Amino acid sequence: MRSFAYDQLPGRVVFGAGALDELPREIGRLGAKRALVLATPEQAAQADDVARRLGERCAGVFARAVMHVPIEVARAAREAAARLGADCAVAIGGGSTTGLGKAIALESALPILAIPTTYAGSEMTPIWGITEGGLKKTGRDPRVLPRTVIYDPALTVGLPVGLSATSGMNAIAHAVEGLYAQDADPIHSMMAEEGIRALAEGLPRVKANPRDLDARSDCLYGAWLCGAVLGAVGMALHHKLCHTLGGTWNLPHAETHTVVLPHAAAYNAGAAPEAMARAARALHAVSAPQGLYDLAQTLGAPVALKAIGMPAGELDRAAELATTAPYWNPRPVERAAIRRLLEDAWWGRRPE
Ligand code: NAD
Repeated sequence: MRSFAYDQLPGRVVFGAGALDELPREIGRLGAKRALVLATPEQAAQADDVARRLGERCAGVFARAVMHVPIEVARAAREAAARLGADCAVAIGGGSTTGLGKAIALESALPILAIPTTYAGSEMTPIWGITEGGLKKTGRDPRVLPRTVIYDPALTVGLPVGLSATSGMNAIAHAVEGLYAQDADPIHSMMAEEGIRALAEGLPRVKANPRDLDARSDCLYGAWLCGAVLGAVGMALHHKLCHTLGGTWNLPHAETHTVVLPHAAAYNAGAAPEAMARAARALHAVSAPQGLYDLAQTLGAPVALKAIGMPAGELDRAAELATTAPYWNPRPVERAAIRRLLEDAWWGRRPE
């Protein structure tokens, strides 16, 4: 019998090839007159284009976003926003840039307009993260949820195939865990299944032709849905494992998600059969864990922790850390079984 609670996060989404043209109108809707444009140094040219489109409504460009939002960069961006009298932050880029916008909003409640160019999904969540002294602190705060998100697939055609693949698998991970979340609800489960389907169909076409706008549109659509799931329901073992591995051994974010996901799904398969059946259906696979592994392999993405910098001698410690203060999970989190999971992921074995 069904039993659930359903919450809808606020926020406006404008989606479509060429949607960036809507930027001036969307800034107007927010009532902003002095927007600070945020980007990484690699995307400074895109930030300048955004600044040009904003014209007089642009207060300045801060193109110094980096991975995991170091507190020093967050402080510099907050100072720039205050000095320039910004009344809005426009973040163009991936999760690192959106994360910098969130660090500003956390203190000042500045509204964020996000223009995502990867599939990470941060733009749909009230989750922030800031790294200080090597430790990443995260939390949830409604002030950091972007007010408006402009998804323009044309901005993603230059996302390298390797990054597209791992970023897409990162998005799928939000949806897979959303399907078996403790607080799952029917609307977000539909979004999760549709998000997995869109990415599983779009990513191989992106690999075949990175400039295929139709495929890019499918992937960005899937990323939106998966990001919305991440924003709405709780995550479980997979995200705990990735935070542990990324935080302690500094493994690359999206690659770690890609490698761990089939194994986390295999761990939970018996305890969450309905979620797995839905994920498998979306992947057009017989089994979800194998389908996820096969998709990563088809995309040429890494499938082994040993290939992305995880030292072999650290698996015991990883199992210990990952089972300390575990997140809620459909199957109890047991040290010995997690050690076996990590061993399988380290070698890159296909789940059985
Ligand atoms: P990223 O934002 O670090 O981007 C990686 C690189 O790709 C950067 O150099 C960026 O400039 C470049 N890039 C982005 N889009 C591009 C494009 N279209 N073309 C060419 N280059 C492009 O990577 P990410 O995977 O999007 O984000 C990872 C970060 O986001 C992590 O710190 C993660 O913890 C965080 N994250 C947070 C949430 C949340 O809800 N708070 C959700 C997902 C990820």
